Amino acid sequence: MSEIPEYLRKGYIEIEELKKIIELPSEERLRKKPVAIPECPQEIPCAPCREICPTDAVIMENVNDIPRVNYDKCIGCSLCVQICPGLAFFMVYYKGNKARVTMPHELLPIPSVGEEVVLLNRVGEEVGKGKVITVVPREKSKGDTPIITVEMPIELAWDVRAVKVVRE
Ligand code: SF4
Ligand code: SF4
Repeated sequence: MSEIPEYLRKGYIEIEELKKIIELPSEERLRKKPVAIPECPQEIPCAPCREICPTDAVIMENVNDIPRVNYDKCIGCSLCVQICPGLAFFMVYYKGNKARVTMPHELLPIPSVGEEVVLLNRVGEEVGKGKVITVVPREKSKGDTPIITVEMPIELAWDVRAVKVVRE
């Protein structure tokens, strides 16, 4: 019997496990412009990310394949993040000593541009504070999911995958 992957036992995927499944972009590429990262390791019949990509950057040989991205073709349009029903696509961009991570945000309230938010890691633990740079609200999203881009210390780029909005 094949071994159950770590991400299935835990319910989330750690970056080290993801790196064994897909190749991540180089630091040089991460500094050029935002680039999409598929964190979707299960072979499930789903392909809206591939269908919506305007540059054919999302590679899937068949509908059950796990998505990979041709990072040279990705223009950072964020449509895959907006459309993914599994909330499994992100974008990462390195800017100086900060990183900008684009992520789905389905919990209310939706933060505002410029707002400080609490950064949550893959387990949901608070790991710091970040600043919201852009918001695509539900009505403008190509899927049903609002997405946000959050600036954070660069060392958190591969840990933070959600935020909490705290208002007095
Ligand atoms: S960000 Fe845009 S170009 Fe890049 S993989 Fe996603 S849909 Fe394709
Ligand atoms: S749309 Fe999302 S869940 Fe579906 S294959 Fe693409 S990344 Fe995976």
